[in-house]
Amino acid sequence: MIKNINVALIGNPNTGKTSVFNALTGLNQKVGNYPGITVEKKQGICRLDRVTKARILDLPGTYSLNASSMDESVVVELLLNKNNPDFPDVVVVVADVENLKRNLLLFTQIKDLEIPSVLVINMSDQMQRKGIKIDLEKLEKKLNTKVVLISTRQNSGVDQLKQILVDYRSIPSTLILDPTNIDQDYFESLGKAFPNQSLYKLWLVITQDINFTKLERQKVPDTAQFKTQPQSYLKKLQQRETIKRYQTINQILKETYRVNLDETTDLRSKLDNLLIHKFWGYVVFFLILLTIFQAIFDWSSVPMDFIDSSFARLGEWTKAQMPAGILTDLIVEGVISGLGGIVIFIPQIAFLFLFISILEETGYMSRVVFLMDRSLRKFGLSGKSVVPLISGTACAIPAVMATRNIENWKERLITILVVPFTTCSARLPVYMILISLVIPNERLLGISYQGLTLMGLYLIGFLMAIVSASILNRLLQSTNKSYFVVEMPNYKLPLLKNVAFTVWEKTRSFVVEAGKIILAISILLWFMASFGPGKKFSNAEQIVAHQYFNQVLSDSELENKIASFRLENSYIGILGKTIEPMILPLGYDWKIGIALISSFAAREVFVGTLATIYSVGSDAQETIKSRMDGEIRKDGTRLFNLSTGISLMLFYAFAMQCMSTLAIVKKETNSWKWPSIQLFSMTIIAYIVSLLAYQLLK
Ligand code: GDP
Ligand code: MG
Repeated sequence: MIKNINVALIGNPNTGKTSVFNALTGLNQKVGNYPGITVEKKQGICRLDRVTKARILDLPGTYSLNASSMDESVVVELLLNKNNPDFPDVVVVVADVENLKRNLLLFTQIKDLEIPSVLVINMSDQMQRKGIKIDLEKLEKKLNTKVVLISTRQNSGVDQLKQILVDYRSIPSTLILDPTNIDQDYFESLGKAFPNQSLYKLWLVITQDINFTKLERQKVPDTAQFKTQPQSYLKKLQQRETIKRYQTINQILKETYRVNLDETTDLRSKLDNLLIHKFWGYVVFFLILLTIFQAIFDWSSVPMDFIDSSFARLGEWTKAQMPAGILTDLIVEGVISGLGGIVIFIPQIAFLFLFISILEETGYMSRVVFLMDRSLRKFGLSGKSVVPLISGTACAIPAVMATRNIENWKERLITILVVPFTTCSARLPVYMILISLVIPNERLLGISYQGLTLMGLYLIGFLMAIVSASILNRLLQSTNKSYFVVEMPNYKLPLLKNVAFTVWEKTRSFVVEAGKIILAISILLWFMASFGPGKKFSNAEQIVAHQYFNQVLSDSELENKIASFRLENSYIGILGKTIEPMILPLGYDWKIGIALISSFAAREVFVGTLATIYSVGSDAQETIKSRMDGEIRKDGTRLFNLSTGISLMLFYAFAMQCMSTLAIVKKETNSWKWPSIQLFSMTIIAYIVSLLAYQLLK
């Protein structure tokens, strides 16, 4: 008979929980989300010995059981709820050897819940270099538990941990801090009211509420009467608990833990001084960013072109193999080009995460956060928002995914919501053609107006991101105070395995999860552009042939005319005409309306759609331009004049016109709420700004 046990890995952030998790479970793991919230849930299976199988749960990093963030509350909720199917038979507290004191605070709290708890001291490979000595036997005795030294990096200690887990019943469940030591009166009366309950557990149930009320209440004893004390009183007790715990821990460590400092710490502090310097820190950071984004652009352009042409060729090949008809069109223009639209993002995502995980792994990212945090915090962002905001200039998709590193939910959400304002590379072709149409190619004091306009558009994107971040910061309620923990891990060489794993995981989850939505919408857009109601659409060829019967047109000219006529009478075309009254005040006609709607597949589609509408072959950039240039309104004026051009550029700068971004935001926030808010508010902002611009410039 196989015996199944539940094991939970709990610890401060960055102590190596996930590394221990990987060492235990190997590839037997599954990543999901906790229901209703965006905290990542990682589970895996580990065979401990012939008869014991452990289900291992890698929990989010937490500093204490006094939850102050959504991540932490997941841990507390689990430990307080015996009915939760994940409730652990044994908890493994993962501590890192250099910050044992702070880690032990959490350990003693969990131990006092009377759940069998093992202490893992990870990163033991650092002990010699750091001159750390630990008296393990004494520590085990003082903490009344098993203690294992582990180094996931050197793969040592893991087998010993498995042995201890098999034998978890032998771990005593004695308390480390008797709650009555915190406040005798309070806890004695609590004990009288609930005689058969663990006092410390009751206390956590009571205080959990004052810190965090967001999550659904679980079934617990009715402790209402003990909450009638003013909150400040409960908070004071909580502080006293922390102080008492640290007193105990200090005493224990004094007898068991010793550090002999040497030069390594000196080198570290010199490097720190440079990297978080008010001036040089920024210089180094921007040099690194410059290198990274240069590399992302350079390295991903080749695979992106390759993917682009491969999918085009695959489409042509399929078209040649299959009989002409709707099914073939669906496969070629809907499915294959939709898939191409997903795969095309892979190089950028992979390269960005390659760099991000190297920065994280080396410990540099923590310095960046320290450096940038103060200025970005004013706008409701975090120091870690820098990377997503700047990645947004390549593409919002990897940028939104990069926000996973931001622990604080509100800061992460704000970053996700404002990232699409930064000027992504898909806007560039739209800007380019509009600028060359409406901005004079002249210079003032050697500065080109066209270049200036382009720069202005980039700046306006960033500015809008920052401004909307501060507004969101006021609007969104914060469920938790974002206190700033100065967490500076040591510098390390990045572990290839970890880096590769991050890159793989990010790419996979994008393709699998956002991919589904992107594919569905591309097929929908294809359908809307390829079908139309009524006779006009189905008889396009005859009608066009009839219209031009007395003109001599080449085959391709005729084909372009037919394609244009079809698009005009397709569902998208009809939609474009329907919205014309709405977009007329912005200076657009229904043709631009069609291009706006199709841009939803990807903004750069704007140019190609106009080419089809104006019945010019879509590859001839110059022809499109001169055709757009010659476009006349009903009143005889030029369509693409300065006011319409500016209005359109502003519309593209602000509108949320990208289904792929919406798909990834849905995935990352785990609900349709935020992408919908994004879609509507950004479109409304774009509308108002473009309206003002057009009406003022007209
Ligand atoms: P988590 O946040 O607790 O899940 O921690 P991770 O498993 O993500 O590890 C945090 C960092 O510590 C990573 O950079 C790991 O490479 C590093 N790390 C993990 N285990 C060890 C170890 O045994 N020795 C050393 N030197 N570093 C480690
Ligand atoms: Mg982790």
